[in-house]
Amino acid sequence: MMPTREDNGHAQHPINPSLKEGTGVGVHPLHLFRFCPECGSPRFVEHNAKSKHCEACGFTYYFNPSAATVALIEREVPVRGDESRSTRGKEGLASRERVTERRNINGQGVNGKSVNERSVEWLCVRRAKDPARGTLDLPGGFSDMFETSEEGVIREVKEETGLDIDHVEFLFSLPNQYLYSGFLVHTIDMFYRCHVRATADGTDPCAAARAADDAGELLWLRPEDINPADFGLLSVRRGIERLIGELIIKREQIKTN
Ligand SMILES: [Zn+2]
Repeated sequence: MMPTREDNGHAQHPINPSLKEGTGVGVHPLHLFRFCPECGSPRFVEHNAKSKHCEACGFTYYFNPSAATVALIEREVPVRGDESRSTRGKEGLASRERVTERRNINGQGVNGKSVNERSVEWLCVRRAKDPARGTLDLPGGFSDMFETSEEGVIREVKEETGLDIDHVEFLFSLPNQYLYSGFLVHTIDMFYRCHVRATADGTDPCAAARAADDAGELLWLRPEDINPADFGLLSVRRGIERLIGELIIKREQIKTN
């Protein structure tokens, strides 16, 4: 689940009202760090836009975003009876999908091959913890020290959904920031398409998914039913918008080929 310091077991403190999410411009990222962590001197001053320097002992500390991961897990499902209708009733993918879905129902897929009336769903989670508790999210979280980003996203998916990932593909990255303990946390969120490991008996491996850790609930949603505004973390919302946009382009290309 993206990304929260709650995992560390720290208590959530009241948010500094002088800071609002996404308004970090003009605020030095280390403004809360008033004393040198090396010698305790108050002469710990802004060195440049992302570092502070101790005039007493010479210690310099640079602020960088924390690495985090986001998992896109897709499963194929049979086209439902209402597939050609918009269930969201809004503009966007749902309405633009009608033509494509009717075409799918007619068995027209890539290069004219039958798609056997298959559609896709994405695995979403409902955040059990702050920040943005109760909003939708994708599985993922902070990278641990000494692990690769790929190992990190596989670990997070296992922790939050129980699913075993076979391999991952890097998609794109988006910067994010949010308030935690009154401190504006910066992350670089790396999005991966995660492929669930097949079962030995050929049954659907995604059927084993169960919400755990800081995922309060799992939801398999068709992209055309997703409203990006339901995603509480800005980078994930933007990532979802981008993924839906890419899906629209892909399906338009299938239509015109
Ligand atoms: Zn110092």
